[in-house]
Amino acid sequence: MDETVPRGVSILGATGSIGASTLDVIARHPDHFRVVALTAHRNVTGLVALCVQHRPQLAVIGDPAYEGQLRSELREANVPTRAHSGVTGLLEAARCEGAAIVVAAIVGAAGLLPTIAAARAGKRLLLANKEAIVCAGVLLLDAVRVGGATLLPLDSEHNAIHQCLAGARSRNAVRRLILTASGGPFRGREDFSTVTPEQACAHPNWQMGRKISVDSATLMNKGLEVIEASWLFGFARNQIDVVVHPQSVVHSMVEFEDGSVLAQMGTPDMRTPIAYALGHPERIESGSERLNFLRLAALTFEAPDLTRFPCLGLAYHALEAGCGASIVLNASNEMAVEAFLERRLAFMDIPRVISQTLDALAPSGPQSVEDVLAIDAMARAHAREAIGRSAPAGLASER
Ligand code: NDP
Repeated sequence: MDETVPRGVSILGATGSIGASTLDVIARHPDHFRVVALTAHRNVTGLVALCVQHRPQLAVIGDPAYEGQLRSELREANVPTRAHSGVTGLLEAARCEGAAIVVAAIVGAAGLLPTIAAARAGKRLLLANKEAIVCAGVLLLDAVRVGGATLLPLDSEHNAIHQCLAGARSRNAVRRLILTASGGPFRGREDFSTVTPEQACAHPNWQMGRKISVDSATLMNKGLEVIEASWLFGFARNQIDVVVHPQSVVHSMVEFEDGSVLAQMGTPDMRTPIAYALGHPERIESGSERLNFLRLAALTFEAPDLTRFPCLGLAYHALEAGCGASIVLNASNEMAVEAFLERRLAFMDIPRVISQTLDALAPSGPQSVEDVLAIDAMARAHAREAIGRSAPAGLASER
């Protein structure tokens, strides 16, 4: 890396879990990286605290209702950062001229437009926002190509596969991708009727935002990752397997034609894949704890249980049904998870809402980002109705 010019970094979703891990890695390399733009949704205080620490040129709050508060808190903190808000603000942060690198770490389909904007602007795009590629795979890849961007996955599984594929001379050399899944907090559990949001968000290995934590508990996270892997690496459903690996040490694997299997390993800490993508092709310090093989009791692997965790099967189905179905899957999942976190829906009804929404809609593949947004809105409306039908009376008082 050229140490004389620190590369500008824009972080979309800076106040979240991936945002915090990214800022931690960046802070270890002040000669290589400088923060130029930061965004949040409504967490003004968190965003201003980050601005005080990192002094970006631009701070964006996604919800325009909070722009006034952002301006006044920046002024009070005596920070010369410019404030902006709404989708136009997020797009500005994504295209920001001073940023060579954009970290797409907004949660959900809300990250779609800025992620595509960063790709079109030719940035090095570090993708955590898996919902964006699930909803708009072909459009995002087109934007990367047309914009001359570089796409590097942050999701630990895809980051692992990126590393394992580094020496592969052709796709034909690869027999299959093997995504590992921790199994989440309910791996051995049979009865989901009393599951609370707190229990679902208590992931055994990873510290993550609430939405992805629930997705891990339902295994929808793995389902979204199968779709993400299919787009990122260009493999069909039958070449992407999932194995449950509760220790989260092997982050994923690639099996080659000759029978060799390459695995990428490490402690479960998102700073490792983030450092890989920030420094690529160099390797830089991440701050993560080193793997101590002598302290590992065992590495175990088992098949995922699609009966107890139907969300993974629903994602396989959506991948096979086409891009429109993936948008429906994602939108209905976002709605169901939000309702569950707000105690309006039981945990075990999450797959039911998604399945009913997938059954109700069969949109054709989107030709444009506008199509994606229209399908997303339609699916959310159907999911809202399904949630209304599912919510058992007295759910909140049971918890
Ligand atoms: P968090 O919930 O911790 O953070 C989400 C970030 O996005 C926050 O900065 C939040 O702002 C912002 N945000 C939320 N909604 C909107 C919106 N409508 N418009 C603009 N900004 C918004 O999530 P994570 O960091 O855990 O996850 C981020 C993404 O990365 C997800 O797609 C997730 O699947 C993926 N990912 C996460 C991993 C992890 O370890 N956490 C691992 C692999 C992938 P505010 O704080 O104001 O709400």
